[in-house]
Amino acid sequence: MLCNKRVRPNVSQYYLLNMQDIPSIEEFRTQAAAFIAAAVRSNDACPAYGAILPPHLHKPAMHWQRFCFEEGWAGVHWPEKYGGMGLTPAHNIVWHEECAIAEVAPYLNLQGLVLAGEAILRSGTPQQRERFLRPTLRNEILWCQLFSEPGAGSDLAGLQTSAVADGDQFLLNGQKVWSSNAQFAQFGILMARTDNDQPKHKGISFFLLDMALEGIEVRPIKQMTGDSEFCEVFFTDVSMPSDSLLGEVNEGWGVAMAVLEDERGGAGAAGVISLGKRLETMAEKSTALDDVRTEKLTGILNRGKALQALMERRGGDPLIAPVAKLMNSELGYSEAQLDSLLQGAEAMLHSDTTENLLYSPGMRIAGGSSEIQRNIIGERILGLPREPQRSE
Ligand SMILES: Cc1cc2nc3c(=O)[nH]c(=O)nc-3n(C[C@H](O)[C@H](O)[C@H](O)COP(=O)(O)OP(=O)(O)OC[C@H]3O[C@@H](n4cnc5c(N)ncnc54)[C@H](O)[C@@H]3O)c2cc1C
Repeated sequence: MLCNKRVRPNVSQYYLLNMQDIPSIEEFRTQAAAFIAAAVRSNDACPAYGAILPPHLHKPAMHWQRFCFEEGWAGVHWPEKYGGMGLTPAHNIVWHEECAIAEVAPYLNLQGLVLAGEAILRSGTPQQRERFLRPTLRNEILWCQLFSEPGAGSDLAGLQTSAVADGDQFLLNGQKVWSSNAQFAQFGILMARTDNDQPKHKGISFFLLDMALEGIEVRPIKQMTGDSEFCEVFFTDVSMPSDSLLGEVNEGWGVAMAVLEDERGGAGAAGVISLGKRLETMAEKSTALDDVRTEKLTGILNRGKALQALMERRGGDPLIAPVAKLMNSELGYSEAQLDSLLQGAEAMLHSDTTENLLYSPGMRIAGGSSEIQRNIIGERILGLPREPQRSE
């Protein structure tokens, strides 16, 4: 029998740590695999797509999230009173693994189901949890992430968008950029400066912004793939109610850093499974290749195997997140280059290879560029001297 609403454990029991009512990891794995396989057969599941929801999968992904919620399979480790299954983070990892095995998306989008949702669970008031979590699981709210600005990407603390306290609201002015799915989003997680007199990391606050407020203009950006996955977002005298604030005023940097850790460290064991599948597919290409191409392919396979071994050994270690992020996006880039080499002139025209060739450079930038991951690895893991900073 599937672990649906009728049989799942009561969340209050979970919080009393009455583990007897929670399915064991192995029971849950069997139930999850059966639920996913049935959803694939009935065409309710959406194919896996990575971190950013592409426009052509928008409808199937929206359907899949709603389907999971209605069947009692959304928010595996979120409390039941907010619509989740009330299970543990270990069960959630199993859900991700089973989705990776079936090559199915584990949720509607990272921005809502991981970044916004986990931030609200960690830092939200009871009212904010009540207001946002269940509608997010039911896919009534699609979220976007409003962090980067034209002058603040790698140096995020340099952001200039301002939110000035004004009675029981904040007056928002400024601009964001590269905001994935902002053209579809009902809410955004937003970082804005609330105090110009404090050091730059300290005067920032974190908000849950209603994208329907007057004064918000969203302009999709056309990418070289031809799609528009991300946008510029402009704010002109937007009145944000004070209950949009998540956490304390001027304490937004800490809230945001936890969000970025979720974003960079998310792959874990499920990432190993997806990577293993990609490597198998790649290895199949090795028949009938000349020496030069075989050497290139072997080089990529070796890097992939090294990443796989690292993630198997240290997957849950947050210290490994920048290494995994760096190796994964660089590997994706090399794979796309090799695929286009194998494809020949066709790669310059229109094929799956073309799409990947044009898309993969962005993965070396999204969620923190490869150069920035190298800096983090040098400073935090290898203990090299810190990069010189401009004085504030
Ligand atoms: C596909 C995609 C989706 C994205 N989605 C979102 C989103 O939904 N929301 C959001 O807020 N942002 C999003 N971003 C933005 C992303 O987080 C930023 O692009 C990224 O952090 C880099 O910032 P930047 O573009 O301003 O480049 P910059 O910071 O200006 O960097 C320019 C170049 O200089 C290098 N560089 C900068 N500083 C250093 C340094 N100290 N040492 C060495 N090299 C350095 C960088 O590596 C880069 O090559 C997305 C980006 C992409 C590509």
